[in-house]
Amino acid sequence: MTDTQKRFSDHIKAYNGELLLDEPLSRHCTFRIGGPGEIVYTPRDEKALTAALAFARDNGVPLHILGNGSNVLIADEGLKGITLLLINGLTDLVYLGDGLIACGAGVPLKRLCVFAQEHALTGLEFAYGIPGSVGGALYMNAGAYGGEIKQVLASVRSVDPRTGEAEDTPLSELEYAYRNTSFMKNGRIITAGYFRLEPGDRDAIAAKMNELMGRRKASQPLEWPSAGSTFKRPKEGYAAAHIDECGLKGRSVGGAQVSTKHAGFVINTGGATFADVTELMRVIRDEVQRQHGMTLEPEVEVLK
Ligand SMILES: Cc1cc2nc3c(=O)[nH]c(=O)nc-3n(C[C@H](O)[C@H](O)[C@H](O)COP(=O)(O)OP(=O)(O)OC[C@H]3O[C@@H](n4cnc5c(N)ncnc54)[C@H](O)[C@@H]3O)c2cc1C
Repeated sequence: MTDTQKRFSDHIKAYNGELLLDEPLSRHCTFRIGGPGEIVYTPRDEKALTAALAFARDNGVPLHILGNGSNVLIADEGLKGITLLLINGLTDLVYLGDGLIACGAGVPLKRLCVFAQEHALTGLEFAYGIPGSVGGALYMNAGAYGGEIKQVLASVRSVDPRTGEAEDTPLSELEYAYRNTSFMKNGRIITAGYFRLEPGDRDAIAAKMNELMGRRKASQPLEWPSAGSTFKRPKEGYAAAHIDECGLKGRSVGGAQVSTKHAGFVINTGGATFADVTELMRVIRDEVQRQHGMTLEPEVEVLK
């Protein structure tokens, strides 16, 4: 046990959370890539989160945030310092009435969608198949099939890691655009979201969710580990179409491959490393730039 691990274990003992040391992070992301996290901590409430943040701040320990790890590429060396693993921590989920749901950042997005459906509330059907946490979806304004989180968002609760102060911020005071939010710049940690939905028909909502899930299964390589779309939608057209037209489907570097089912996905066909994926992403970007004059911007976030 390192000195930091020992001191963190002592510091966090009194709080409600789960601590893992030298935990393989490949277990906590959908790409199944990534070395050990020196300290991996799941806070079960905001107090535990604040205590972990205070330790990182007071001891100059690096801090990383992970939701369900479905939009990240993690270094093979792993992550030094504290990784806050928020999925299944902060899991309060409450219907407040009048179409408003309060949902903790650690709730799987799919669970929130089912909860809304059970309460006959429409608006979140688009999000049903997105395999992230609510915090991760709020962080990057997740979206699909013409919907995005912003459309159903009332406000976000977040904590400033520098001060430990929590704040509820209404959507009107936040920047929310395509795969771009205030939280991608301000470093705050999202602890909950408030979602405003409309009354709907339970069966119709369920049917829509199932229809969209069917479309996903038909078009995406869900049988392979990946982090979803590797690149954001460019100014013109779709990243997948550009990549396909450049003849890159099936192109591999080590265990990383451009999916033959959906060119927008880089998949891990077995034993892919961080270096394999980053090199394949470089090849894709260069080729799309050369053939189509289009710059692709990564959607996947690198944690190292
Ligand atoms: C098969 C597949 C299909 C996908 N389809 C879609 C899709 O249709 N639409 C779409 O938008 N995305 C899609 N994704 C990508 C991904 O599911 C979303 O981006 C999702 O919102 C990420 O959530 P997460 O909890 O997994 O975040 P993570 O991958 O854990 O983290 C992503 C980023 O968010 C930050 N973060 C996470 N939680 C918090 C928090 N509470 N506070 C502050 N920062 C935080 C992390 O530090 C990291 O920078 C897909 C991924 C896969 C594997």
